[in-house]
Amino acid sequence: MIILITGGAGFIGSHLCRRLLKGGNKVICLDNFITGSKENIKELLSNKNFRFIKHDISKSIKIKEKLNWVMHFASPASPKDYLQYPIKTLKVGTLGTHNCLGIAKAHKARFFLASTSEVYGDPKISPQPESYWGNVNPIGPRSCYDESKRAAEALTFAYYRQHKVNIHVIRIFNTYGPYMRIEDGRVVSNFIYQALTGQDITLYGKGVQTRSFCYVDDLIDGIIKYMKVDYPGPINLGTPFEFSMLKLAKKVKALTGSKSRIKYLPLPEDDPKQRRADPSLAKKMLGWQPRYGLDEGLNKTIKWFKEELKAC
Ligand code: NAD
Ligand code: UDP
Repeated sequence: MIILITGGAGFIGSHLCRRLLKGGNKVICLDNFITGSKENIKELLSNKNFRFIKHDISKSIKIKEKLNWVMHFASPASPKDYLQYPIKTLKVGTLGTHNCLGIAKAHKARFFLASTSEVYGDPKISPQPESYWGNVNPIGPRSCYDESKRAAEALTFAYYRQHKVNIHVIRIFNTYGPYMRIEDGRVVSNFIYQALTGQDITLYGKGVQTRSFCYVDDLIDGIIKYMKVDYPGPINLGTPFEFSMLKLAKKVKALTGSKSRIKYLPLPEDDPKQRRADPSLAKKMLGWQPRYGLDEGLNKTIKWFKEELKAC
């Protein structure tokens, strides 16, 4: 198959490029490097089945190859990144998604959208099933991301209903692993980086807010399984293993053997208090279940961060 992956030079996108190339597909990776990096795809550039296009997908583009899939993963995803680029984040979720859907329609290709658990906002129910409509502040600092993804989902379903485009929508819960940008500001990368370099571990609020973490290989397995199933979604891809940020900080300290101190900082505005995936639909529809526990996934990530820090 010939597959266009937007955001292919990012954390998740680069894992997806590698996995789909391994599966014998041709991959066209499109990225503007706003939060991704050429480093993430450098070993792919010599692969004859890989083509890279530097482009901002918020602007339209024609792809010459006949595509089987358009997979839209482009978007700043870390709160630090989307707070820095709120308008570009809104554009890639709305105009970028519209452009990708237009490409999918013109090529009669299937469309895959990387949406997010952020569509649930600061949820009033837990765990969050796909049927929950969410609790999002439409004008808060996180709205550029949350609302752009909600609009992306709405656009995708409009193309499904009006133009019969074959769609696949996933809602990704906090995913971590190798190839995360060391200073992307997300909690796992921050804590590991701080622990390995002996800096204070920055815990926001009292650290009682929760997230459920998914190791990137598990997420990619879920995506590959979903590509083989005809179902519009949305499908949650995330684990039901819920941890407080204080517990995560202590775990990272223990796994790295770090002497870093925990430093309490103010909780960012609208930071969701609780987040836990309900993955039962993924299990039912895709036969998907996460394989990695938090310790195993963190150990693999810590090993990768150590190598990256050595190389710096
Ligand atoms: P990332 O920042 O590492 O990757 C995003 C990539 O998209 C980067 O390479 C960036 O340069 C590219 N990009 C952004 N805007 C672009 C544009 N206008 N044109 C072309 N390229 C553009 O983030 P990630 O964690 O790999 O996230 C990938 C996708 O998964 C995003 O859509 C994100 O919303 C979604 N997601 C991720 C998580 C997670 O925990 N990692 C959770 C929920 C959803
Ligand atoms: N967080 C933290 N310290 C950090 C970075 C994040 O305590 O250095 C908290 C943040 O307030 C949030 C959680 O960790 O409650 C997850 O943050 P992240 O930015 O990784 O992703 P989010 O789920 O908020 O999009």
